[in-house]
Amino acid sequence: MIGTVSRLSQRGFFIRYEQRIFYFAGYNLIMPDESAAVQIDTFIRAKRRTIALIVERDGSLTVRAPRRATLRDIHNFIEEKKDWILRSREKLKAIDKIPKKNFADGEHFPFLGQDYELRLVPPQRPALKFGSGFTLAVSARLRGEQAFIKWYKSQALAIFTERVDHFSALHGFFPRRVRINSAKTRWGSCAADGTINFTWRLVMAPPEVIDYVVLHELAHLKIKNHSPRFWKLVESLCPDFKRRRKWLRENGEKLNL
Ligand SMILES: [Zn+2]
Repeated sequence: MIGTVSRLSQRGFFIRYEQRIFYFAGYNLIMPDESAAVQIDTFIRAKRRTIALIVERDGSLTVRAPRRATLRDIHNFIEEKKDWILRSREKLKAIDKIPKKNFADGEHFPFLGQDYELRLVPPQRPALKFGSGFTLAVSARLRGEQAFIKWYKSQALAIFTERVDHFSALHGFFPRRVRINSAKTRWGSCAADGTINFTWRLVMAPPEVIDYVVLHELAHLKIKNHSPRFWKLVESLCPDFKRRRKWLRENGEKLNL
């Protein structure tokens, strides 16, 4: 996979920040022990080009660093990102408080940015139906999660395919196909063969946010990385993409069952 829209956070996952090592060139050095250092819980040297900070669900900090990065570079990076680490820990605590769905009468489920109420009803086929809200056969309540995932997946395929076709015709993109997956850490991705993947969870988001992710992945058909040139292209396709991306970052963890 190349080019992804990453989730900043996800229930049961982690928050990750990554930066290329050359960022530190000329950075004003601070000795690690002069600052109120953030404790590193797991430190991994690997063959890689970026330093990644990962705040795990329990709040512990994992650092993955290139072999050639100096300890001073790494400490400086952590020092610079200290506020981000603290904010991520707060965010994970808040995510932990989002209740999981019970598929109970009166619960609400998002679809295209709106919340719809669930009503449990006598047996029906299919067990889950959508109209002005959701109805689920009371006998299928224990299978509620599977029923909703199946429904979200079919909606996601139809809606994302339509949006991909719409923007491809408009801007001259040639994707190979659209696929729906259950990814938890990325909203969409664009494979080298031109397949565009989206997680079904994205169909819970408002249409304008979906369109941003669609345009972002289509842009990867032309530019495979996240270079400034790539973001220029995204901006030309979607001038207020930053606002839509911000919505995803702030609300992404709610797009879940
Ligand atoms: Zn991307």
